[in-house]
Amino acid sequence: TKILIPIETASGERRVSATPSAVKKLKGLGCEVFVESSAGELSGFNDTLYKESGGEIVSKSNINIWENADVIFCVQTPSESNLSKLKKGAILLGLLNPYANEKLQKTITSKKISALSMELLPRISRAQSSDVLSSQANIAGYKAVLLAASELDRYFPMLMTAAGTVQPAKVVVLGGGVAGLQAVATAKRLGAIVFVSDIRPAVKEQVESLGARFIELPEIDEKPGESGGYAKAVTPEFLSKQKATLTKYLSEADVAVCTAQVLGKKAPVLIDSHMIEKMRPGAVVIDLAVSQGGNCEGTKSNETIIRNGVKLIGAGELPSSVPYDASTLYAKNLTSLITPFIKDGVINLDKEDELISGCLLSNEGVILQNKVFEN
Ligand code: NAD
Repeated sequence: TKILIPIETASGERRVSATPSAVKKLKGLGCEVFVESSAGELSGFNDTLYKESGGEIVSKSNINIWENADVIFCVQTPSESNLSKLKKGAILLGLLNPYANEKLQKTITSKKISALSMELLPRISRAQSSDVLSSQANIAGYKAVLLAASELDRYFPMLMTAAGTVQPAKVVVLGGGVAGLQAVATAKRLGAIVFVSDIRPAVKEQVESLGARFIELPEIDEKPGESGGYAKAVTPEFLSKQKATLTKYLSEADVAVCTAQVLGKKAPVLIDSHMIEKMRPGAVVIDLAVSQGGNCEGTKSNETIIRNGVKLIGAGELPSSVPYDASTLYAKNLTSLITPFIKDGVINLDKEDELISGCLLSNEGVILQNKVFEN
């Protein structure tokens, strides 16, 4: 099997889908691995390292490699021009952002591609080592707090100095999933006082074990649901009560880190413009959910907007800002998913396997998950 590790073409993307050690592993299993020249440059892996690991470096202008590749490991969906070169039945594996992605759906069908979307990996124990959303969300949660600390006009820790005592910063984390819990841990390490809001009751204990305080849920009859570890969207009545509670916490906060998401749906708006007005000038909001519409009204991807003195930062691409570790973990996630299906250098996906069937969007151009595209 010929595996291609391409240069990522999406703007701002610094990660690479396989590190030299992942290439070594795939080579050890008997696969041929082709790496587009400089594919790992932005994440700290140069061509020499790939060569030493057994990868074959191919120049970017060599279109043959796209035509001959059996499997393409990618971080984000390759450009349309690269997809158009793929051979029938080629397997594309990566974060393909399939929701309501009509363009991707059309290309898959016309090019008869088999596409595996890592976002759709079922959340079962066996899937943990391949869980790209978790490995990348962890990085986003960590980096969000560092970004907030560097943008904030205050210290995070409490300091007792000869000139007086500095009070610790107050951080509100919205959403206590993978990114949120890492944000809590990072903010605690920096000495902040941390509050967390989530709608899954299990989060309370997790948050408290990290030394943060859980913001109690509104008392209403209809409790929010959960499926496969993911939260379901809340009702408008619940959301409005939740926002009323959050307003109080946000009015005293220095930082809000927004990580609340509902799989395949728009993110809930938990901070609206009235709530921003109640925040103190100088406060910082980091919105990790910005590419799903954002938890905070008015945030825009990769932009800092100042509203009433509050800095609103749309930070949907933070994993890419820690490209060495993000790529290392990402590559391990992909190889761990694929390795059980490689025998004597040949990849043969078992379409009945729960992990594979969960992420398989299409088989040789036949769409298997229409619902995802319609979502
Ligand atoms: P996510 O990114 O989809 O959502 C982030 C958080 O936002 C979730 O905790 C969710 O409950 C919360 N949220 C949604 N609506 C909200 C609202 N209105 N207000 C406040 N919070 C809201 O989720 P995630 O971080 O990817 O993971 C969620 C859960 O899945 C975690 O418990 C995690 O441990 C579990 N998980 C399991 C596996 C596995 O078993 N293989 C892998 C990864 C994660």
